Amino acid sequence: MMPRQDTGAPENPKYARLVELLAEVRNLQGARYVLFWDQQVMMPPGGATARSNQMALLSRLRHERFTSPEVGGLLEELRDYEASLPYDSDEASNIRVARREYKKLTRIPPDLIVRLSRAGTQGYGVWMAAREANDFKVFRPALEEIVAVSREICEAAGYQDHPMDVLLDQFEPDMKIADVEPLFAELRASLVPLAKAIAAKAGAVDNSVLHQAFDRDQQLALGREAVKTVGYDLETRGRMDLSVHPYTIDIDMNDARITTRVRENYLGQSLFACLHEAGHGLYAQGVPDKFSQSVLGEGASGGLHESQSRLWENVVGRSREFWQFFFPRLVTHFPAQFAGATPESVYRAVNKVMPSLIRVEADEVTYNLHIMIRFELEKAVFDREVEVKDLAEAWHAKFKDYLGITPADDVTGILQDIHWSSGFGAMFTSYTIGNLASIQLYDEALKAFPDLPARFARGDFDTLRDWMKGNLHVHAAKFAPQELLRRVAGRPLVAGPYLAYIKRKFTDIYGL
Ligand code: ZN
Repeated sequence: MMPRQDTGAPENPKYARLVELLAEVRNLQGARYVLFWDQQVMMPPGGATARSNQMALLSRLRHERFTSPEVGGLLEELRDYEASLPYDSDEASNIRVARREYKKLTRIPPDLIVRLSRAGTQGYGVWMAAREANDFKVFRPALEEIVAVSREICEAAGYQDHPMDVLLDQFEPDMKIADVEPLFAELRASLVPLAKAIAAKAGAVDNSVLHQAFDRDQQLALGREAVKTVGYDLETRGRMDLSVHPYTIDIDMNDARITTRVRENYLGQSLFACLHEAGHGLYAQGVPDKFSQSVLGEGASGGLHESQSRLWENVVGRSREFWQFFFPRLVTHFPAQFAGATPESVYRAVNKVMPSLIRVEADEVTYNLHIMIRFELEKAVFDREVEVKDLAEAWHAKFKDYLGITPADDVTGILQDIHWSSGFGAMFTSYTIGNLASIQLYDEALKAFPDLPARFARGDFDTLRDWMKGNLHVHAAKFAPQELLRRVAGRPLVAGPYLAYIKRKFTDIYGL
């Protein structure tokens, strides 16, 4: 691959060589993603062992390529070249981001990486067994090892403020625990009382229309129509399949695939999974072609990616105007089920708020409380305020406190998420970062096009999609998340706009 120039600078042979090596890194990652997609979508169960070996090999090769002495040397030798270029040029950004990732990969001793990966492989099996037994005590020793390795990783990598900064940085480059902790405090102060006020008026919204029998193929046809409606390229640069957990696999901007899952007695599952993953897919497909085979050729961070999925799932897909446009299409697929419904009744149904035990089923008001509980418990463990053996109890206490409900067992409590079977610390934070960022970005788009909701009502989703593409996706992975938000939305991550959006929307729906 020839390096791409956007500055007119004369070609630098060292830079050209770096570009060549990084293309291999990105291609090894893409190949691993294809294997992962196949594992989730196509592979017979018997393939599991061979596949985990194949994927581990590609991970190792990618790690070796990226951390090779040649890459390390070039990143040092290119410092003057980088300094001679504009900070936001493609070349300077490529060198800067590659150096950041290189440092991240080399500052953790390889034996700790191996130990965490082994703990994760064992942890997954033990977590499954603990779920089977519905008993956190079964999972506890595995989790203790995962926590111990995670602590060692933080100490080995080094940090200034909080050990979990090292872990958060893996998902959200350059973000600190000190950045997100005050945001959670702000969310807690507003969302806990709001969720309680809504719970007291639980009967005000009826969503039984969504809980009927819905044919599987019709649901998939509806999902396809929904993702095409919002502009996801399903035909030539994407595809949609079924998997146990809905997923987006960003193999390349011209091959960004999504998956969904169907529940035949609940329409919300598949439709909103489709819109969520289409949001991820739009981000992946929106990255300019020139970043193909580059470390810049993807989204800026887990949280920024989640800002796009939540934008299309919630801000658009659960808006009144979306349903004014989409309702007739819904009726075409399910005429009997929606015979007595209206756009407004469906809008209300898809926005029912109910304190629930399960994160993935949570509504917009309570979702961040689920994330906050996990964040607070992770931090309490790192701060040695809670021991792993007491985590299930601490989990119950927080649910009672924030949501007013207590899990009856561990499967609907602490054992519900897969995340802690492979790592511990900042595992969930990106979800809340994404929710907050989705509104900051949407508000910016609204400044440019104040009539966006009216456009949704007449089926114009391209205006919003193109705004995101031109203002966010265009930067690919050039900037760290806080830096990118400052550039696109004028300030780093804040909670205010999200809280204003939630209060406005649900005060109206629930007549508070
Ligand atoms: Zn997502």
